[in-house]
Amino acid sequence: MRPVDHTHDPRTRSWIESANASNAEFPPQNLPLGVFQADGLPRIGVAIGDQVVCLGTLAAAGLFNDSIGVAVHDHVDLTGLMSLSVADRLRLRHELFQLLTDSQSRLARDASLQQAALWPQAAVAMLKPVEVGDYTDFYASLYHATNVGSMFRPDNPLLPNWKHLPIGYHGRASSLVVSGTEIRRPSGQLPPAQEGGSPTFGPCRQMDYELEVGAYVALGNRLGDTISLAAAEDFLFGITLVNDWSARDMQRWEYQPLGPFLAKSFATSVSPWVVTMEALAPFRSPAFERSSDDPVPLPYLEDSVNKAQGGMRVQLEVSLLSEAMRQQSLPPHRLSVGSFGSMYWTLAQMLTHHASNGCNLQPGDLIASGTVSGPERHSRGCLLELTWDGEFGRPVPGSQRTPLHLPTGEERLFLATGDEVIIRGWCEDPQRRTIHLGECRGRVV
Ligand code: CA
Repeated sequence: MRPVDHTHDPRTRSWIESANASNAEFPPQNLPLGVFQADGLPRIGVAIGDQVVCLGTLAAAGLFNDSIGVAVHDHVDLTGLMSLSVADRLRLRHELFQLLTDSQSRLARDASLQQAALWPQAAVAMLKPVEVGDYTDFYASLYHATNVGSMFRPDNPLLPNWKHLPIGYHGRASSLVVSGTEIRRPSGQLPPAQEGGSPTFGPCRQMDYELEVGAYVALGNRLGDTISLAAAEDFLFGITLVNDWSARDMQRWEYQPLGPFLAKSFATSVSPWVVTMEALAPFRSPAFERSSDDPVPLPYLEDSVNKAQGGMRVQLEVSLLSEAMRQQSLPPHRLSVGSFGSMYWTLAQMLTHHASNGCNLQPGDLIASGTVSGPERHSRGCLLELTWDGEFGRPVPGSQRTPLHLPTGEERLFLATGDEVIIRGWCEDPQRRTIHLGECRGRVV
């Protein structure tokens, strides 16, 4: 586990005034990393207040020593930083914290360096933080798996393997897009209207989002090697928000026997900022408390540190902004709030399980948690669960189907064209500065 240290002290202020506002998403205790475009170039940056600081400019001015400087210099994304050792990643945080909080730091005193390195966030475009090589999506919420399972299989919602291993599937890395990218409604095979009928091909009619938290892999393991649970935290670089766009009608028709395919691979959105594991240190929490009737995980998936601190206190929120709401200048309408602490499996367990067969993970790979849903209705992380279709998209008599009502009087079972989904996340604690993950948004076109 990463240390809680002076960089988490809530009293420390930055000489960049916007970082000290009480509602600042990026105070000096946060320091999320991302890639932005300015002057036509992709640049690695750290967010502070309403500014972004170009690490390449700082490296060129000689502010970082070898390993960090090389990681920044040799890459146009965060892959180099994700290849650094845990010690170097902590050193990067300490150096950035000093540069941005000490009014005598070289950056604080050098106006021309500031001129070259600081960009207003409002004036730059954010890019994907990493060109992801491989993307895996898990299914780690007991509530989500039980809800969805009971729509698929009312008599048998949770399959017997579910509490023994983190279920996942290999997603599609090429269609990962950064927040703000428009999402084109996919076409595909839609299930027959009646049992025994023929499918049709056409635009998806049951477009959905999935609220998820993603983690970028650091270091990586060699093919054939595994990652123990005790070491797994070192292989996590940081977290991000993920929207796993889902075509439910296509999914219902194609998912058996091999799982999701075209219903998911058309697009997955990620937020631009990566909040590092170092920043998250004060917000760690016990793993999900299993009921006494639940199976004990096999030894490779359980240890005392993961049990005590493997969880993470991240609050999450999903809002929707329809075309009509946009025209009436209404604010986004909140659909749900959730907590990442409700996940049955921890990120470390997912990573350890992923590598347990010797599969090589690489720096910059993305693992996503699966839909984050809690026990209450307001904490369900997708429309499928929120509107609760009795038979996965087909209303059945007596089902609990409940359309969502928007402030315009519009109703939704699934997403309409023009709908924008906005996911936000943050970590809060009365003793700490609140740190935000930023946002992950996308509009269906
Ligand atoms: Ca998913």
